[in-house]
Amino acid sequence: MTRPTTTSQHIDLVEATSAHNYHPLEVVLARGEGCWVTDVEGHRYLDALAGYSALNFGHANARLVRRAQDQMHRLTLTSRAFHNDQLGPFAHELGRLTGKEQILPMNSGAEAVETALKVARKWGYQVKGVPEGEASIVVMDGNFHGRTTTIVSFSDDKEARGDYGPYTPGFRAVPYGDADALRRAVDDTTVAVLLEPIQGEGGVVLPPEGYLREVREICSQTRTLMVADEIQSGLARTGRTFACDHEDVVPDVYVLGKALGGGIMPVSAVAADRDVLGVITPGTHGSTFGGNPLAAAIGHEVCLMLQEGEFQRRSAELGAQLAAGLEALSDHGVVAVRARGLWAGVDVDPSLMSGRQLIERMMARGVLAKDTHGSTIRLAPPLVATEDDVDLLVRVVRESLADRD
Ligand SMILES: *Cc1c(COP(=O)(O)O)cnc(C)c1O
Repeated sequence: MTRPTTTSQHIDLVEATSAHNYHPLEVVLARGEGCWVTDVEGHRYLDALAGYSALNFGHANARLVRRAQDQMHRLTLTSRAFHNDQLGPFAHELGRLTGKEQILPMNSGAEAVETALKVARKWGYQVKGVPEGEASIVVMDGNFHGRTTTIVSFSDDKEARGDYGPYTPGFRAVPYGDADALRRAVDDTTVAVLLEPIQGEGGVVLPPEGYLREVREICSQTRTLMVADEIQSGLARTGRTFACDHEDVVPDVYVLGKALGGGIMPVSAVAADRDVLGVITPGTHGSTFGGNPLAAAIGHEVCLMLQEGEFQRRSAELGAQLAAGLEALSDHGVVAVRARGLWAGVDVDPSLMSGRQLIERMMARGVLAKDTHGSTIRLAPPLVATEDDVDLLVRVVRESLADRD
């Protein structure tokens, strides 16, 4: 069956021919527009995951597709052996958006995190004066930063890490949200504190109010780089351009990805000032596709769209509506709601159903979402959603919780 048509034919083909590294819902999508996707059998669904926030601007965003198509006819790949005419404008605009002097473009989020780790170590040796080979980086319990061997080395998720050793040394983990523990963990060898300002994969975990400011203070006092992984939390998802903005905190290094590619292709970047990114010299780091003209054109357009502030405003407004709607479901089996902007982690009463069961029931009612561990689900529709879409989402959560089979 190499020309599948039905849902089960498609799934059988994938299961037979692809590694089983995911456990997708039994839906096979064929089209998408804005917040809505259509499967191979013609059923429509509200996409309440938005590609883990890679689709902040919605599926097939007209402005981004136009820019990408236009660029595809001109020039798509040069390698960095030559200059291309799209990288400069992209770097300039992303610099404006982040307030940073330089960017280093990569492709996937994990590559950008790896880049930040390499930059931090190099900065530690060359600028901070850490003795060779002794650099330490402090990370958070419950983190998610990607899937490379080094990144899973400092994950505490057994599934993500199991049997992938030997693990990269040089990382220390502290409890997320505990500033005292962080202060104790940082010493003269520490080059960076790497954290998600909101832990997305962890279940939309918000740190206690004031924590990001304390992290900033500890890093400044100890001359340690504060590295904010805003791959999922950044670019308007939380109602501000960056999640760090909620505490008026400016990290030394932003790590960006997901929505930077406009839902079209992987585009990631590290942004920092010259005194940090200046440690990178020709030949010391790179990527064949990083900063390619197609990616740069899309990233440039994304930055221009974010400079207008409209997506941030919509995220905040719709997010308030979503949070209020979900909080009103406490009599329906919702035990906790953590929300910021149009992004919510919802814990349901585990005696009612698992997160997986809940999202399966939601799918049957036309909404696609994602569970995380146990009885938590994540909701993050594209920021082009309407009030009606958010109402529908809340109604479907309520009805699906009431569904006891
Ligand atoms: C998704 C994600 C990554 C990894 O990005 P990939 O593009 O999947 O490599 C890293 N950090 C955070 C916070 C993420 O959400």
